[in-house]
Amino acid sequence: MNKFDYIIVGAGFAGSVVARMMADNNKKVLIIDKRQHIAGNMYECFDENGVRIHLFGPHIFHTNSDKVFDFLKKYSDFYKYEHKVVGRIEGKIVPIPFNFKSLELLFDKEKAEEIKTKLKENFNQEKVSILDLINHDNVVIRDFGNYVYKNVFENYTAKQWEIDIKDIDKSVINRVPVVLGYDDRYFNDKIQYMPTEGYTKLFENLLDHNNITCKLNSNAKDIISFDNDKVFIDNVEYNGKIIFTGAIDELLNYKYGQLPYRSLNLVFENYKIDYFQDNSVVNYPNEEKYTRITEFKYLTNQILKNKTTILKEYPLKYDVNDQKCKDPFYPILDSKNYELYEKYKNEIGKYKNIYLCGRLAEYKYYNMDLVIERALQLSEILIEGEIK
Ligand code: UDP
Repeated sequence: MNKFDYIIVGAGFAGSVVARMMADNNKKVLIIDKRQHIAGNMYECFDENGVRIHLFGPHIFHTNSDKVFDFLKKYSDFYKYEHKVVGRIEGKIVPIPFNFKSLELLFDKEKAEEIKTKLKENFNQEKVSILDLINHDNVVIRDFGNYVYKNVFENYTAKQWEIDIKDIDKSVINRVPVVLGYDDRYFNDKIQYMPTEGYTKLFENLLDHNNITCKLNSNAKDIISFDNDKVFIDNVEYNGKIIFTGAIDELLNYKYGQLPYRSLNLVFENYKIDYFQDNSVVNYPNEEKYTRITEFKYLTNQILKNKTTILKEYPLKYDVNDQKCKDPFYPILDSKNYELYEKYKNEIGKYKNIYLCGRLAEYKYYNMDLVIERALQLSEILIEGEIK
């Protein structure tokens, strides 16, 4: 294994971007993944009906970073795609994030006008945190905030995280603001595009380099071992650098206990109709056990008659031994979990040639663009170090 300058664990965005950057820098790279495919949770494939699906749930690319998008454009063409989500609230389909249109659909005309006027008087920004509304001095704004909190956030959050909304890290619910206007896009980043031939093809291009060897069905845990401050690959001391993008509790055999994650039971359904719903994603904050339904043809622009595939997401506690929820999708951000994470991180810190990168390895609720940004940064630091 010492013929490789880098061993990269995980072929999602974190690992694949570093792999490419180092390969372009004339380093020999081995990238391994325990799954039988590249692209991590971005993986796309055709299902048995010929519908192109995101096998690990909908992944929408959006960013304000030109640097990130310029990097990706080298490996794929893109089409403009502005993601729009609706939610079923009190039996009505309304835009999410909750905006003035949602308000008009759910309140009578007079009340809607009163709320909009109060919001405009008190805020001169385009979006506001739900927490600023429920804590506001003005009673009209506070009542409106409580309505949205109860109907959009409270039950969705309880389903998604299985904790009381009061205990959730604020950054999580602040991912979805309340919009003070009619912008009905889910994200407001300046760059919102999807890869024309899908993420899997983008990853194939990213990893297509003479200096990159890719090994699938290969679990890091089975090949990496530790002794004192040394790292061994297949029982031989490894002198190159390791970029680890997986779950570090698994790598260290859960020696301090399992790091908690949320998982999803992803249930796909096929229908012999053109379209199942009117939007790419419909959120169900309240009545249903699932949080949302995605219909992939809206994301991929695939034209297909009489066939469509939808995905229902049922949030579950992560359990490595249960087929239904063996994928750790979301880190659970709280101080106890950070403390546990720090123990693992400090332990890994003993090994000077291991670097952690990505949502799992850093235990952060990164969006796709931030993972890519972080992987580019890490690569630049490594390249700089090589030059010195
Ligand atoms: N959320 C909510 N209601 C919604 C949509 C989101 O309460 O209709 C909250 C919920 O706590 C969720 C968080 O906002 O976990 C972040 O939502 P986002 O859509 O960003 O989650 P992701 O796409 O990463 O699953």
